[in-house]
Amino acid sequence: MSGKTYPVFETWAQNAHISKQKYEDMYAQSVNNPDAFWAEQAKRLDWIKEPTIIKNTSFDPVSIKWFEDGVLNVAHNCIDRHLEKRGDQVAFYWEPDHPDQPAQVITYNQLHERVCRFANVLKELGVKKGDRVTLYLPMIPEITYAMLACARIGAVHSVVFAGFSPEALAGRINDCDSTIVITADEGRRGGKTIPLKKNVDDALPHALGVDKVLVVEHTGANITMKGGRDVWWHEAAAGVDEFCEIEPMNAEDPLFILYTSGSTGKPKGVVHTAGGYLTYISLAHETVFNYEDGDVFWCGADLGWITGHSFTLYAPLSNGAISVMYEGVPNYPDASRFWQIIDKYKVNQFYTAPTAIRALMGAGDDFVTKTSRKSLKLLGTAGEPINPEAWEWYFHVVGDGRCPIVDTWWQTETGGCMITPFPGATDMKPGAATTPFFGVKPQLVDNDGNVLDGEAEGNLCILDSWPAQARTIYGDHQRFVETYFTTYKGKYFTSDGCKRDADGDYWITGRVDDVLNVSGHRMGTAEVESALVSHDLVSEAAVVGYPHDVKGQGIYVYVTLMAGVKQSDDLAKDLRQWVRKEIGPIATPDLLQFAPDLPKTRSGKIMRRILRKIAEDDFSNLGDISTLADPSVVDTLINDRQNRS
Ligand code: ATP
Ligand code: MG
Repeated sequence: MSGKTYPVFETWAQNAHISKQKYEDMYAQSVNNPDAFWAEQAKRLDWIKEPTIIKNTSFDPVSIKWFEDGVLNVAHNCIDRHLEKRGDQVAFYWEPDHPDQPAQVITYNQLHERVCRFANVLKELGVKKGDRVTLYLPMIPEITYAMLACARIGAVHSVVFAGFSPEALAGRINDCDSTIVITADEGRRGGKTIPLKKNVDDALPHALGVDKVLVVEHTGANITMKGGRDVWWHEAAAGVDEFCEIEPMNAEDPLFILYTSGSTGKPKGVVHTAGGYLTYISLAHETVFNYEDGDVFWCGADLGWITGHSFTLYAPLSNGAISVMYEGVPNYPDASRFWQIIDKYKVNQFYTAPTAIRALMGAGDDFVTKTSRKSLKLLGTAGEPINPEAWEWYFHVVGDGRCPIVDTWWQTETGGCMITPFPGATDMKPGAATTPFFGVKPQLVDNDGNVLDGEAEGNLCILDSWPAQARTIYGDHQRFVETYFTTYKGKYFTSDGCKRDADGDYWITGRVDDVLNVSGHRMGTAEVESALVSHDLVSEAAVVGYPHDVKGQGIYVYVTLMAGVKQSDDLAKDLRQWVRKEIGPIATPDLLQFAPDLPKTRSGKIMRRILRKIAEDDFSNLGDISTLADPSVVDTLINDRQNRS
């Protein structure tokens, strides 16, 4: 794992917001005197009443409060306070699914008017401060209006990714007791349409608390509107005022509920609050991405996930940034789409997930190299461990070797980046998340809770609270305490495995649940998968353990080949030898199955728990599969398992 190091680029060391020295000074203050550090950072925001109590947190018993006597409004901080200086500046470039469909440009003034109207419509529909509002919307501008409208009037949004089924939607509506759903006639993704309104109609018989559905017209599809319940957004918007007062919110009032990706089990409805969350992610956006005034920032994450909440919406707007928002997918109409969008809007910072990077790498370099990408200054990744091979490709082919990469480790529960390089301060190591963000105190422990110092590998905990930390799981505080604070008393347990190298840099090795134990040797999934992905013919790989008579656990690998490469027994043999040579005999795969696709969550993460079941020939009990993106992938893998070798 300790491969190459790319030292900080000289120009970045000199010009970036955060230099090595500045990082060290700020980090030291953030952990030694968090009250002073975060009191200062809170000044990034406009407060109706400035906080005087900064940090009031404990992990045993669990009680987390930041800025608890502060009063602010998140929508005001994201829109109104910028209007004087930036009213006519672009807030969003909105890019449609297909390049021939009309794009939109939305200025801060326009954003203000539309959010106010949306807020007034919600009020007319009876939504009040503290009410939960479920959003089931595609990546169209109206989803940003809806989220910010909730923030404006103090309602709590719960965005459900617009690819989820009616059952999954109903479950999430019921879980947070919302009485209103905002949706669209249809969504578009990769040339396909998704019948969102129809899905809502199918969900509501199982979610009886909902009495209002607000519908955005997007594709113009023929849908049925139910009298007394369903309301067209454009009709309602025409009849309301274009100004809406902001609702003063306590810093600890909830801003949103968001369900985790469901990689390891039933999704958790994580609750984030207003003041700490916005302070933290605003700082992260400026420092980790080195955002400078006038830059064009593009986070490709869907607003259905935390990366979208924090870095497609709230953090860039809090900093008065210009952002890109894209409706579609990376490979439609073809695998050049991302890079063409970057050229079209002269994007300076681009942030996406390893799953997209691996897929585009598998499509071949030509799709990238035929575009310019000259505007790019920095690249980012989040969501899964990035395999060094994919990192190098992102760095050399996409970034032409000029752009630092920030590999940001974080979780829905953490609100913002927790372990991440700073481009002017941190030497980059492909595959390493490297160094803690301000205020973050990582610690590695073994399974018995013993603290591991120095160079070590273990379970990643965080010792103290940071402002963007989730406060609870909606309606189930006990689950919150049990999931995160009980395994290692007094510490936040991330459920991720992690290695600290001799330089003190952190490498996420995968989920603790996925760790392999082969003849007594513990191995993270990331290491074996990265070895496979580093083979020229492999585009993706997933590794799980299965019961093995002699070794305790055997290594079962699923391999997706590069586009156009044929699978064969010889290739399987080569790949085994390859892993053996790259890591050592102990890591030699016992069973190998070629997989045209891997089961992933809808946010693009590999679901190893399902692969483990297939490896064990136990198909009856696959667990919660409602978050699976494409169930047919699982059937193919089950059918193909006879061909493993
Ligand atoms: P669930 O909690 O429901 O099982 P999930 O953990 O996939 O789902 P998210 O909050 O979307 O839900 O994902 C957080 C996880 O993603 C982290 O715990 C980690 O395993 C992984 N992750 C995110 N960013 C990185 C990164 N840069 N490097 C390695 N792993 C990452
Ligand atoms: Mg998780």
